[in-house]
Amino acid sequence: MTARIIDGKTIAQEVRAEWKLRADALKARGITPGLAVIIVGEDAASKVYVANKVKACAELGLHSEHIALPADTSEAALLAKIAELNSDKKIHGILVQLPVPKHINSEKVLNAISPDKDVDGFHPLNVGALSTGNMRFAPCTPYGCMKLLEKAGVSIEGKHAVVVGRSNIVGKPMAMMLLQANATVTICTSKTVNLAKFTRDADILVLAIGRTKMITGDMIKPGAAVIDVGMNRDEHGKLCGDVDFNSAKEVAGWITPVPGGVGPMTITMLVANTVQSAERVAGK
Ligand code: NDP
Repeated sequence: MTARIIDGKTIAQEVRAEWKLRADALKARGITPGLAVIIVGEDAASKVYVANKVKACAELGLHSEHIALPADTSEAALLAKIAELNSDKKIHGILVQLPVPKHINSEKVLNAISPDKDVDGFHPLNVGALSTGNMRFAPCTPYGCMKLLEKAGVSIEGKHAVVVGRSNIVGKPMAMMLLQANATVTICTSKTVNLAKFTRDADILVLAIGRTKMITGDMIKPGAAVIDVGMNRDEHGKLCGDVDFNSAKEVAGWITPVPGGVGPMTITMLVANTVQSAERVAGK
């Protein structure tokens, strides 16, 4: 079997076009969805992520503010900036790019963002809302994975979904969303004994590990949908996922490549969350 490739780039364009229509409808009513992205310090990778987020907003005609603060910004100054944005009517979404410098408590920072503008979905209130089945802001990467499954036509209800990884930003919310979609969900971690036993039983397999090509074809159930969230470098410095794509694609039914799979969806869903937040304000 050769798997169908789930083309994240094409699906991201399609999803962005859908959200652009919704943003345009808001703009016609005099409301331009606005996103504020705060970056503290000079981390090179973070700068690229932030630039891409701001660019995606511009492409959809959204208002965006790129707030670059020096690495020695105090926690109090950052919290004051967030408070200011919380009450800024032009801003519907606030995102603080992680990691923040060590002298700043990231939990305190995430908790300071208004839950109504928490487009990353990391505020405890929104985490709680997701786990009680009343999702308000879905964390962008798992939200993007769910969209990929939907657009690829993979049915979820009644299927066994295995998520490898339990981070707060990917693994846990991914498992919650799959559960909400009526999958039977297993979460595996670094402590799981005999990981392959679980992965081989997965109809839907989501990998959010951060280990280069760790999941090989022999660990995958024939016909499974494989979603590779991992973003790693191989021995040649080339971007690759947690899945050994070449062996996996011979067994899986669907598979996402890296790059060009989950990656383009994360920013797309951030834009979607921003527009949705503005829609909520408009509906009030
Ligand atoms: P974390 O490091 O926070 O979490 C990794 C998880 O993998 C942990 O739960 C860990 O288990 C588990 N794990 C580690 N080793 C093993 C193992 N040998 N067997 C089973 N489980 C294992 O990573 P993130 O969730 O933040 O990110 C995961 C990957 O996804 C990274 O490559 C990251 O770059 C990528 N990523 C990609 C995004 C995108 O937009 N495409 C967005 C976000 C992340 P334990 O909890 O026991 O330590």
